[in-house]
Amino acid sequence: MTDTYLLFEKERPTPPYIRVTANSLKRFVKEVFVALGVREGDAEVVADVLVTADLMGVSSHGVQRVERYVAGIECGAVNIDPEMRLAVDSGAVGVLDADNGLGHVAALKAMMIAIEKAGQFGAGVILVRRSHHYGIAGYYALKAVERGMIGISMTNSESLVAYIGTVERYLGTNPIAFAAPRRHPPPLLYDGALSVVPVGKIEVYGKVGKEVPAGWVIGSNGEILQGDARRIHEAIKKREAAILPLGGYLEEFGGHKGSGLALMVDVLCGVLSGAAWGSHVGYTTVKNANVGHTLIALDISKFMELGEFYDRLEHMVSDIKSLRKSPWAENIWIPGEKAWLTMQTRLKIGIPLHLNIAEGLKKIASKVGVKFDVEVVEEHLT
Ligand code: NDP
Repeated sequence: MTDTYLLFEKERPTPPYIRVTANSLKRFVKEVFVALGVREGDAEVVADVLVTADLMGVSSHGVQRVERYVAGIECGAVNIDPEMRLAVDSGAVGVLDADNGLGHVAALKAMMIAIEKAGQFGAGVILVRRSHHYGIAGYYALKAVERGMIGISMTNSESLVAYIGTVERYLGTNPIAFAAPRRHPPPLLYDGALSVVPVGKIEVYGKVGKEVPAGWVIGSNGEILQGDARRIHEAIKKREAAILPLGGYLEEFGGHKGSGLALMVDVLCGVLSGAAWGSHVGYTTVKNANVGHTLIALDISKFMELGEFYDRLEHMVSDIKSLRKSPWAENIWIPGEKAWLTMQTRLKIGIPLHLNIAEGLKKIASKVGVKFDVEVVEEHLT
């Protein structure tokens, strides 16, 4: 029997859904990409990034996104046999040319180089150009944490977000992830888009029949859209609507800050790396999409003794945990705690897959000629 009192999910599943084991889901996703001709090691990386997102409760960037990468490979926009190389390699910094390969593979490679450089120089900064969508930014930042380092990961994306004072798609959702090791898990992991929500959230709301609240999306005449998520997602796709930047559409609520931060990400990931920026960044099915990433590793031990860093960080965490709680909050959370608890829970009881998402995966399986043989541990059909 499962010790239910320890279970926590940051994202409550919407019925009807099944629960499947993480290992079987990962094996299935890997098989899909191998069937499409992706190298086995690369397919393993993509499967791990996508299933980790579902484990962490980020279904917007989990296996529901398999179809997007499959479409990119099938139309030839994603190069499945890339030669990724350091086009610039200068001391602590470098630029990786991803040769139009899968973004997950490029970003992981770049972070591993940044970690190596950080071990030598104290910091490693690798920018990536000619890449594709890389999924959750936090996956790569956590690779630095595994080595006792601080990790930072950013990417630009196809344009989806209205710059402050405008009503059309220009900025990407441009997430930033910041991860730092703690003495005991979970590590600190802040990982979020610089738009009010990522487009994947609206996509999932459409797939599971939920409504978009007011404040996420602006129409091309400046009207705030709400309601049917499928309709709103279609409007965004047709460029009749745009997602709002973090802080919303008015300076009063800080929309200029979300826009400003997204601009910063685009200068690093796009302008400085040699990749595209703003509306020039392509979707996964666009040839030469030229998505750019930034991967940074900082070796804490070069700044201060690691034990001292842990003590100071725990002091900070306990400061925050002992603040007076708002009556509106269920808990005081440190970023990364909810994701970690969700992961522990889903490793025990399985990952929820809404039936519409499972159906989409089944279709992909039959198209590429593999079996949808995931291990179902529970069914919630009503
Ligand atoms: P969320 O809004 O879900 O979460 C953002 C961060 O806030 C998380 O680190 C989360 O930690 C933390 N957090 C949430 N609630 C609290 C709280 N009450 N107190 C303290 N911290 C809290 O993220 P988004 O929906 O914006 O992004 C989801 C994912 O999508 C990210 O992984 C991002 O990288 C990815 N993304 C990728 C894009 C791409 O182009 N590749 C584009 C846009 C987004 P916790 O997880 O522990 O709750």
